[in-house]
Amino acid sequence: MNQKIVYMDHAATTYTAPEVVEAMIPYFSEYFGNPSSVYAIGELSKSAIDTARKQTAAVLNAEPEEIFFTSGGTEADNWALKGVALANQRKGKHLITTKIEHHAITHSAEWLAEQGFEVTYVGTDEYGMVSPAEIEKAIRPDTILISVMYANNEVGTIQPIAEIGKIAHEHGILFHTDAVQAAGHIPIDVKAENIDLLSLSGHKFYGPKGVGALYIRKGVRIKNFIHGGAQEKKRRAGTENVPGIVGLGAAISRAAAAIPEENARLIRLRTRLTEELLKIPATKLNGHPTQRLPNNVNITFEYIEGESVLLFLNMKGICASTGSACNSASLEPSHVLTCMGVPAGSAHGSIRLTIGERTTDEDVDFVITELTEIVKRLRSMSPLTPEELR
Ligand SMILES: *Cc1c(COP(=O)(O)O)cnc(C)c1O
Repeated sequence: MNQKIVYMDHAATTYTAPEVVEAMIPYFSEYFGNPSSVYAIGELSKSAIDTARKQTAAVLNAEPEEIFFTSGGTEADNWALKGVALANQRKGKHLITTKIEHHAITHSAEWLAEQGFEVTYVGTDEYGMVSPAEIEKAIRPDTILISVMYANNEVGTIQPIAEIGKIAHEHGILFHTDAVQAAGHIPIDVKAENIDLLSLSGHKFYGPKGVGALYIRKGVRIKNFIHGGAQEKKRRAGTENVPGIVGLGAAISRAAAAIPEENARLIRLRTRLTEELLKIPATKLNGHPTQRLPNNVNITFEYIEGESVLLFLNMKGICASTGSACNSASLEPSHVLTCMGVPAGSAHGSIRLTIGERTTDEDVDFVITELTEIVKRLRSMSPLTPEELR
């Protein structure tokens, strides 16, 4: 491929940073020992995992003993919901979550509902923001868990996590947050924000795919989800993904250290991208104007299909998405945009651009120019376009 690729889909996945790959490499062939073994090379793997656990804990203001490595964000979300529900069902069988969660949460909640649990799904305002008061209203005497994502993967809205955590704790309810889009991108403090359980994933912050972690506050009652050997203090079985865990630790440290400078840069690029795209007539920014992830732009172009925009962008080497990767194969409008009250037609005309570390001013200029042209062309072909926009 000779064409220049402009990657603006960092919310779907990131490349693994070269220095992270370098940190991982020795743990494939050189230090390959099983961390559970007694001899020296096993010991080396074990101490590498310990380092990654400390690195991960430090970024969240958690204790290393509270970090449990998993196969990714999806497993961490499944474990949190199912493990807490099953361990606390004598206290009650009611859970609260939101209508804008990732499918790893909503489908786990639906599975629990099939097992006899009850789930309340709280909505959002037009900006995709969950109201702490709405969460509090949904609380019942038998509520055992509240799960609200830290930041939304489609529209980037950052939720009032500390306030929701406080409410949960005032009512003696456990609080989980899916922080897969937030960890390594914005500062998180599980102690200050009253978080009992938190999910994160390596490949969303320049670490490898197939590795994640669940933070479980000391003393939280949770059942095991993966059964087998005694790994992870007997709480998550299976021989550890040593290179992956090493990569996750290196990546989260690196990403967290870069936050202040990198986010200022991303916000500058995002603001310019947003402002220039909004100059196209009949467009609208989705998500909160300020309380949003520094790398997220989600825009509706009325009268055209987001899927067609993506195909035209692809021809120019620009990688973007319509929101959640899971939705791209279906014709259903995004559940997040629907929850925010975006009409189905407008939801179909929405695309998500998520920038990252390698995004330059030139990339932003290129996308503005190409996207403006593509929207104009598609509108000229669409029977829905009003005469004055042709
Ligand atoms: C990507 C993502 C997940 C799933 O994480 P994987 O590591 O890909 O399994 C869960 N929640 C959110 C919000 C995500 O963006």
